[in-house]
Amino acid sequence: MPLSEEILNLISCPKCNGKMKEKENFVICKECKTKFPIEDGVPNLLQ
Ligand SMILES: [Zn+2]
Repeated sequence: MPLSEEILNLISCPKCNGKMKEKENFVICKECKTKFPIEDGVPNLLQ
């Protein structure tokens, strides 16, 4: 199930504070390209 646009607008990259985009089972920072896994429908930004 895709993330809602709302969630993507709420989160930002923990490294550079950039905007995130969703791709498959990850959210990816548009600025520094760091990938974070989406686990149980929630982006895990702690890795
Ligand atoms: Zn970033």
